[in-house]
Amino acid sequence: MRLSRYFLPLLKETPSDATIASHQLMLRAGMVRQNSAGIYTWLPLGHKVLKRIEQIVREEQNRAGAIEMLMPTIQSAELWKKSGRYDAYGPEMLRITDRHDREMLFGPTNEEMLTDVFSSFVRSYKDLPKILYHVQWKFRDERRPRFGVMRGREFLMKDAYSFDVTPEEARKSYNKMFVAYLNTFERLGLKAIPVRADTGPIGGDLSHEFVILAESGESAVYAHRDLVEMDAPGTNIDFDGDLQSVVDERTAFYSAADEMHDAEAFAAIPEDKRMEARGIEVGHIFYFGTKYSEPFDATVMGPDGKPNLVEMGSYGIGVSRLVGGIIEASHDENGIIWPTEVSPFDVGIINMRAGDAECDAACDDFYAKAQAAGLDPLYDDTSDRGGVKFSRMDLIGLPYQIIIGPRGLKDGIVEVKTRKTGERENLSPDAALAKLT
Ligand code: ATP
Ligand code: MG
Ligand code: MG
Ligand code: MG
Repeated sequence: MRLSRYFLPLLKETPSDATIASHQLMLRAGMVRQNSAGIYTWLPLGHKVLKRIEQIVREEQNRAGAIEMLMPTIQSAELWKKSGRYDAYGPEMLRITDRHDREMLFGPTNEEMLTDVFSSFVRSYKDLPKILYHVQWKFRDERRPRFGVMRGREFLMKDAYSFDVTPEEARKSYNKMFVAYLNTFERLGLKAIPVRADTGPIGGDLSHEFVILAESGESAVYAHRDLVEMDAPGTNIDFDGDLQSVVDERTAFYSAADEMHDAEAFAAIPEDKRMEARGIEVGHIFYFGTKYSEPFDATVMGPDGKPNLVEMGSYGIGVSRLVGGIIEASHDENGIIWPTEVSPFDVGIINMRAGDAECDAACDDFYAKAQAAGLDPLYDDTSDRGGVKFSRMDLIGLPYQIIIGPRGLKDGIVEVKTRKTGERENLSPDAALAKLT
C-alpha cells in the first residue's frame, strides 16, 4: 500500500478522555474513531489488526476441533425468558422493540441461542461431542465504557460452545479450549495466565479466566511465578490425546484474581515465587453442565436409549479487547510495537526524497520486490519531511522500517531499522529483503 493512497487519519493531539497508552495510541495512530460512548469505527489500520487477531483465534479454534458458524447479533427475548436470564441480565442488556412490538435484544452472549439451535437438530449421543463457535459483535451497555476498545459497549468476541454426553467428556472439551487459549495468546505475542475464576451459582472448579499482565489492568492478579514463566503447550499438541496432564500441570500452581484470591494460600508460596500484578481479562472459559440444556430440553439419546441432558461449556475471547491489550503489553514512548503476527503491515518503506528520480526508482523496486516475496509493505511515498515520516512510522509500530535515501543509495545501501530494539543496519537492498523474509 502506498501511503499517499491510504486512509491513515493520524491525530496530533492526544484526546483528554484517553487515559491509558493503548487508547491514546489507537486514536493517535488512526486505528479507531469513537462514534458514541464505547462504540467505534474501525479505521483501515485498526481493521487490519482486528482481522489478523481474529484469524489467529480462528486458526487455533479450528486446530482444537471447533467448528465455525455465524449467529445473528439480534436475538428474540423469548430465548432469554426461557433461561431466566432476561430479567437477571439487567441494564447491561440492550433491549429493542421491533415494529410488531416484539421484544428483541442485541446479544451480549449466545448460550441461549445456540442451545436452541442445537436442540432442534441433534438427537443422538453419536452426534457428540461438538464444539461450535462464531466471531460476532456483541453489545453490553457497560456502566462505564472506558479504555477505548478494551471496555467498549459494542465489541467483537469469539464465543464457542461445547456439547457433550457426560461430565467426563465435557471436561475433555474444556481442556481442548484451555490448551487452545494458551496457544492462541502465545501466537499473539502475549503472556496470558490462566486464573481460577468464580463459577457463580453453578459451583465446581471449572472456570478459568485468561489474563495478560499490564499496569492498566482492571483486576489484581496473584500467581506463582513458575506458572507465569511456563510456555504454551504448542500447536503440535494432539487435541485428541490426553490433555488433562497439560492442564493439571498448570492448574496445580496458585493463580487467582481479586474475587477468588485466598491470601493464606498465597502466603504459603515461597516469597520469591509470589507474583502480584494487574491484569486484563482477555478470555474466559466455563463449564456449566446442564444450566441451559435443562430449560431448552436439549437432550440426546444415550447408548441405553434413554434421553440425557447435554453437558455444556462456553468459551469467550475478547477479539477487539485484544487489540488494546496487545498495545498495553507492547509499546514505548514513540508508539506501538506490533508483534509480527498481528502487525497491520509487515514492513514500512520510507522514501527520504520523494520526487528524486533515483530515490523513487529504488523505493519502487524495493516495494515491488517485497510484495513479490509475499510481504505486505506500507510505502511512505509522501513528500513529508524525514522527521515526520520517522515519527509516523514509529507511532504505527510496524516491526521493520526500510529507510531509502540518496546518500545510502550512492553506496548501494538502505537502512533497516528494527522497531522493537531501535537497532539500525546498513544493508544492500537484497540483503535487507532477505532479512525480512
Ligand atoms: P469483564 O470482567 O471485563 O467485564 P466479562 O467477564 O464480563 O468481562 P465475559 O462474559 O467473560 O466477559 O466475556 C468473554 C470475553 O469478552 C472477556 O474475557 C473479554 O475479553 C471480552 N469482553 C467482555 N466485555 C467486554 C467489553 N465491554 N469490551 C470488550 N471486550 C469485552
Ligand atoms: Mg463484564
Ligand atoms: Mg470478568
Ligand atoms: Mg469473564
